[in-house]
Amino acid sequence: MTLPAQPRAHLAHGIVWLRRDLRLDDHLVLALAAEQCERVTVAFVLDPDLLRGPRVGAPIVQAFFTALADLRADLRALGSELVLLEGDFAQELIALARRVGAHGVFYGEDYDPAMRARDACVEDALRAVGIHVQSVVDHVYAPAGTIIQATGKPYTVFTPFRRRWEAWAAESLQPPVPSRAAIVGKLATGVELGSSLAIPTPESYGHASSPDFPTVSATVARELLERFIGGPIEAYSETRNFPALAGTSHLSPHLRAGTIGIRTCFAAAFHARDRVWLSELIWREFYQHLLVHFPHVAEQPFVVAAQAIPYRDDPAAFEAWCAGRTGYPIVDAGMRELRATGWMHNRTRMIVASFLTKHLLLDYRWGERWFERWLADADLGANNGGWQWSSSTGTDAAPYFRVFNPILQGQRFDPEGAYVRRWVPELRNVPTEFIHAPWEMPPLVASEAGCVVGQDYPQPIVEHAFARIRAIEVYGAVLGSKARVKS
Ligand code: FAD
Repeated sequence: MTLPAQPRAHLAHGIVWLRRDLRLDDHLVLALAAEQCERVTVAFVLDPDLLRGPRVGAPIVQAFFTALADLRADLRALGSELVLLEGDFAQELIALARRVGAHGVFYGEDYDPAMRARDACVEDALRAVGIHVQSVVDHVYAPAGTIIQATGKPYTVFTPFRRRWEAWAAESLQPPVPSRAAIVGKLATGVELGSSLAIPTPESYGHASSPDFPTVSATVARELLERFIGGPIEAYSETRNFPALAGTSHLSPHLRAGTIGIRTCFAAAFHARDRVWLSELIWREFYQHLLVHFPHVAEQPFVVAAQAIPYRDDPAAFEAWCAGRTGYPIVDAGMRELRATGWMHNRTRMIVASFLTKHLLLDYRWGERWFERWLADADLGANNGGWQWSSSTGTDAAPYFRVFNPILQGQRFDPEGAYVRRWVPELRNVPTEFIHAPWEMPPLVASEAGCVVGQDYPQPIVEHAFARIRAIEVYGAVLGSKARVKS
């Protein structure tokens, strides 16, 4: 197997520091360590500040803990152990290295700018005590810097990025999917490693777990991919936009925690010859690369001029949006699906994001943070990219004058109202012709449906026609063609 050119070390013992790559198969870091070490210890370090902090929520914490438990079982079946540590990354890794007699640490890079800064500090601390450190890009197929324009500049528009990506993938040697075989004989045994921390519960970090959040593990990821490739992928281009249908793979929490390798997913997409699904995976790469080329997007709009958008300060409207009580059924269904399951369909993600930023004129970062807290797949690249696209502040953004009409979106993508009825039970008996505009029901119909708007279900929080014109005026004043200066 050819790994990216790196200085090679020959070590008696190395530590694989897992982060967003909780699996044994298709794992470039494990493969790299196996190539250079006689013995390998696999470790994960819990960061209590991150786990208790405002930037993570119950679904993703639960996802990671479930994945860690599955990985530990997998390692134990091979006679080894997942070493679980808690505390300062550098200190914990140094202490572990001393305990097991390791002289190297191997890890997969993270493109989140804050994590990159943190990793640089960890590397310095490890090197200062003589530990060899090596990292490799595992979480994307094409490392940042490979897909760039002929001028050397990064792409800021998706379609040319995708074309270049496809040409690059066709030209370059396809990275083989590394198998676990290389590592198996090298794993330090459970006896050598001794006891380790138990996998904690989300509750121990202040998060309420739920059986309705996605179960994230390498085992489930394999099953999901097989199910998807075995059927739904064939109709993906027709069904993927309908939130009531199981038309998409549901692999996003797995790609986030790394319970499935990205090469495995791309191999499946190439094999299935489905360009639409392939394209979605390339969107993920596009947004990851942006974090490296334009790290300011983590905190600020990509479009510099968009910093001047005069967002409203309306916490009550934000709360109504969070709770799924805006009076627009498709918006409320999406927001309630998110709270109940830790996941939301892509179509509804776009609708609710447009609604927050255009109809309610609230800062996209409020929505981005809410998603961060409630998505099991919360990922800075995709989340920030999705929010900036929807709010017309990002690269390749929807034009500012595109304001999704939540009634028409509902009628088009949930024509029978099955999705709305599932997540907004107050509307369950509303006739289909009114399901996306229940305020239009005549009083007799409303009382027969057991849903009087204003009593059983909220009045629309803002009138669509008014909100649309307001958004176009406000955004237009800032982002109109002359003001639209890209960074
Ligand atoms: P599939 O349709 O099966 O697609 C396969 C994979 O491709 C996904 O698992 C995902 O990894 C990737 N993908 C698909 N669409 C996108 C996209 N538009 N952008 C980037 N990657 C994509 N996705 C996340 O993984 N994490 C997030 O935090 C996130 N936040 C979002 C916020 C907003 C406002 C929007 C509009 C989209 C967001 N997305 C996010 C993208 C997308 O909604 C999810 O990836 C998708 O719904 C996951 O479902 P799936 O796994 O069934 O996807």
